[in-house]
Amino acid sequence: MQFDMVLTTCPFCGTGCNFYLQVLEGQITDVVPCKTHPVSEGMLCVLGRNSYRFVQNPERLTKPLVRENGAFVEVGWPEALKRVANGLLRVREWFGPDALGVFSSAKCTNEENYLIMKFARGVLGTNNIDHCARL
Ligand code: SF4
Repeated sequence: MQFDMVLTTCPFCGTGCNFYLQVLEGQITDVVPCKTHPVSEGMLCVLGRNSYRFVQNPERLTKPLVRENGAFVEVGWPEALKRVANGLLRVREWFGPDALGVFSSAKCTNEENYLIMKFARGVLGTNNIDHCARL
């Protein structure tokens, strides 16, 4: 059997441990710690060790869903994003920008969290931004 080893960063927290995904015929079969990475030095916590399991889970949501008449309906990304934008605009028009808030995630990269902050302050006009690590 010929496995591919794909070096990547753990998606579960901001520590940034690295590991190899062991891939066989397009399917992830295991996680192998990277001994030379300066952060993780060949070690992973239980989250990182099992972090690949969600990727191929058949119940994973891969397309946007919107609620219509009490049921979830699949829509394309342009339609989903239009609905979100319209909802945010409506709240801002009715109640002002401080009626909006943004909650970021430790599962995002530093750069993504920076962009979320810029979006909240520069686009939405609110300073209501927080992060799940403060819970
Ligand atoms: S292995 Fe654990 S500590 Fe390291 S990045 Fe992943 S979740 Fe964080």
